[in-house]
Amino acid sequence: MTTVTTTPTERAYEPVIGLEIHVQLRTQTKMFCGCALSFGDEPNTHTCPVCLGHPGTLPVPNAEAIHFALMIGLALECELAPRSIFHRKNYFYPDLPKGYQISQFDVPLSRSGRLGDVRVHRVHLEEDAAKLVHAGASGRIHGAEASVVDFNRGGTPLVEIVTEPDLSSPEQAGEWLRLLRATLKRLGVSDVNMDEGSLRCDANVSIRPAGTATLGTKTELKNMNSFRFLERGIAAEVTRQEQILRGGGEVEQETLHFDPQTGALSSLRSKEESHDYRYFPEPDLVPLAPTQAMLDRARAALPELPAARAERLERELGLPTDTARLLAFRSELGDFYESALGADGATDPATLASWVTVELVARLGDVDPVESPVSPEALAELVRLVSARSVSGSAAKEVLDAMAAGGGRPEAIVAERGLGLAGAGELEAIVDRAIEANPDAVEKVRAGTGKAMGAIVGAIMRETKGRADGGEVQRMVRERLGLG
Ligand SMILES: [Zn+2]
Repeated sequence: MTTVTTTPTERAYEPVIGLEIHVQLRTQTKMFCGCALSFGDEPNTHTCPVCLGHPGTLPVPNAEAIHFALMIGLALECELAPRSIFHRKNYFYPDLPKGYQISQFDVPLSRSGRLGDVRVHRVHLEEDAAKLVHAGASGRIHGAEASVVDFNRGGTPLVEIVTEPDLSSPEQAGEWLRLLRATLKRLGVSDVNMDEGSLRCDANVSIRPAGTATLGTKTELKNMNSFRFLERGIAAEVTRQEQILRGGGEVEQETLHFDPQTGALSSLRSKEESHDYRYFPEPDLVPLAPTQAMLDRARAALPELPAARAERLERELGLPTDTARLLAFRSELGDFYESALGADGATDPATLASWVTVELVARLGDVDPVESPVSPEALAELVRLVSARSVSGSAAKEVLDAMAAGGGRPEAIVAERGLGLAGAGELEAIVDRAIEANPDAVEKVRAGTGKAMGAIVGAIMRETKGRADGGEVQRMVRERLGLG
């Protein structure tokens, strides 16, 4: 056991964390032109004068992107602006051929929402920049290491979601981002793939003396591309800020990069202020004023969202919180579970849920169960066989192995492999043999040593290859020994 002693000068600090998430929308075409969205295609094959920023071209907003952005605003319980404005965010960088990004500034699409315990500050619509590829030593031009630009990504519709600083630990930040990801996935508006960059997360981190209300100076951690890096990066930054403050220094407002390989944080640049971007209203676009029909359509497109689903599974079916969340956050598992439950009204919801979230997941990993040979009806049937004591739990796991490998119905597999529960007649003979073969254990059981029962039951389970019910076997042994 470790004891933590705190000297009066060593104050306890608490982290204050907010997240900024960029979500690439899964539309047919880019935000302001007709180029197709692509990922992994030959570089610079999805471009046109609009997304390459040629002079004289004009942007045309993508109706599908606006529809998706409205769905996100509604799903995050935001207030939707009756009239929001596109702005030009000016900066010079090779990934931005126009010299500005079309984004939203003081009048975003929506604001003041909530997801779970975290308030959402704002949600706005913008376009993605192109992708800079650092070619390194292999891509030398005139002797210098080269970076090249792939404009396929330039102009992809993006929604930026900014939270209030309501998170207070790295783990809580990771957990909330998982809920957001599950929500966006359920909406069907994005691939939400962190590896491929369709979901990108920055974290604003500051610390303050525990129990106080003022906010400390924050730093921004850029582009965490996995849940694990997000949690590790925030933890490293909290530690760094604590060391600075304890050493009597001051945290500087800056943008940082977390290297997941070394665990080191490095400064990218001092943080820009919004005036550095010289925002001004985009003169080529009218304000975005959603009609009632657009709002109705976005509302009608909302499915049951993960937070609501987890709550319903827990409340209506009595599932444990963790199980309900797993089923709701991985909606393909939830869909499989609910369709198995519907296939067999007699199945106990909690038992079935455990077979889906523990046994099936152990066999399928991340594979969507719909793509697997196991059908919801077949799993429900297997669980019913176990509940009806037609097959033992361990034999049922063998049946599920077979189903996961090659499909099939449980009853047929049980019959084919002789996995049915041993009948009373067969079991009696086996019990007799086990008692005869284990005289020492029998003596100990008679003398009241409970543990010795294990040796006898174990022998019986081995002989039946697990096709017996442990409780029933114990009962039979005790009866045989006259211990009733
Ligand atoms: Zn284009």
